[in-house]
Amino acid sequence: MFPEDDLLGVDLVIPDYSALARNGRKVWGVALTHAHEDHVGSLPYLLRAVSAPVYGTPLTIGLAKNKSRASAPFHDVQPRQPVSIGPFEVEWIRVGHSIPDACALAIKTPAGMLVFSGDFKFDQTPIDGRPTDLARFAELGEAGVLALFLDSTNVERPGVTPSERVVGESLQKLFPLVRGRILVTTFASNIHRFQQIFDAAARVDRKVAAAGRSIAENLKIASQLGYVSIPPSMLVSVEEANRLPDDRVLLLTTGSQGEPLSALTRISTGAHKQVKLKAGDTVIFSASPIPGNEAMVARTINFLFKHGAEVIYGPHSGGHVSGHASQEELRMMINLVRPRYVVPVHGEARHLVLNGRLARSVGLPGLEALIGENGTIFEFGPASGRIAGKEDAGNVLVDGLGVGDVGDEVLRDRKHLAHDGVFIALVAVAKETGDIVRPPDLVTRGFVYEHGPHTEKLLEGARDVVGAAVDRCRQRERTDFGAIRTEVREALAKFLFEKTGRRPMVLPLLVEV
Ligand SMILES: [Zn+2]
Ligand SMILES: [Zn+2]
Repeated sequence: MFPEDDLLGVDLVIPDYSALARNGRKVWGVALTHAHEDHVGSLPYLLRAVSAPVYGTPLTIGLAKNKSRASAPFHDVQPRQPVSIGPFEVEWIRVGHSIPDACALAIKTPAGMLVFSGDFKFDQTPIDGRPTDLARFAELGEAGVLALFLDSTNVERPGVTPSERVVGESLQKLFPLVRGRILVTTFASNIHRFQQIFDAAARVDRKVAAAGRSIAENLKIASQLGYVSIPPSMLVSVEEANRLPDDRVLLLTTGSQGEPLSALTRISTGAHKQVKLKAGDTVIFSASPIPGNEAMVARTINFLFKHGAEVIYGPHSGGHVSGHASQEELRMMINLVRPRYVVPVHGEARHLVLNGRLARSVGLPGLEALIGENGTIFEFGPASGRIAGKEDAGNVLVDGLGVGDVGDEVLRDRKHLAHDGVFIALVAVAKETGDIVRPPDLVTRGFVYEHGPHTEKLLEGARDVVGAAVDRCRQRERTDFGAIRTEVREALAKFLFEKTGRRPMVLPLLVEV
């Protein structure tokens, strides 16, 4: 996950793998369903906690390997060709999703068959001609499935999610109407979307350049593995694109979520070195904001409009369809697989509860829904399933090179600094006498403007407060540094609050001279 706003300075949020590490010897392998960030992004951290082979379809492995640079063995698998992993037999089953080569898993266990849907939808007209393997799900259902772990992302949406192909059709209608440059932003892993963008660009004779390293990298891996077919002459560098007439150019960019460092965000603020916006540019958002990112996306869109660009975005623009099953597809999956238990996964609490209700609404005799959360232990026997306990499973924060060293205390300090700034008093005390040698040095950041008209007076007052605090300590013969520090800090905090109504972090530093 990306961090929420209150996790100041945190780069990434990954799952807590300590329970897996404790059970390390029971981990036989890692079975990947697809290469989206929320499914493979923390793989390098997982592989530090447990050593196990990693399995997945070729594109999934290609993208995951590129990211993790881990030494664990990676294995390509093919759908419908079961693989033995420890006591289990795991089979990958093709599904539709917003990245090629996505699969569900059928896991044969001594207790019975478990089906893990992965992220899926039933796209009846897939871009790569590889539809969801409905027949295989039906066969598994016929043979008997103990439990289905079911994608809950779109359980709030009635009906059926439209085919990815719909996006291509609307791009083909849209592109001929644009006179200037076209910029399209989508997820860097949405290979099918890229194929459709290239196809639509070819029809209007535009060359395509990728602004953003991850798009270029993923396109390279996907075309090497044969998941995307692009005439080599169509792909140009951004420099080459800058020399072409505007109506011959299409730029692909990252930044559909308003991520601060992404290409589109930098383009929108004028901070991108190679791409400068101009009037006549049309920017198409071929992605919808992930919950939580709405404000950042809106900010980017505002900047783009301000710079004179036309922006096409929003649920009715035709530029995007979801990769997740809506209610009718979820019901169909349950009807095909006919499990004894449904375990909703991949959603927030409300999604999981609603998906449990949806599962019961299908009316299969004896079907039960088991609602858990991260860390819940589900226990299955040949004819039984229950929630058997809970493991620790929180989030671990990654900041720079540190994994898990930023906790509540560090965040509390960061919040304090962010809200009120810092006030540092450097006090030099004579070793022999305990006198303050010279007026204390005062340094503030994020508290008051240093050169403001009232600041000097405030600082003078603060110096007096420090002097008085030290004197009080001496009168009480409490001259150890700990006592002086506490006295100075409390006196300063009180004084600063009285004068400004603010509570900066006060740090007295004492040195003996
Ligand atoms: Zn996904
Ligand atoms: Zn996902």
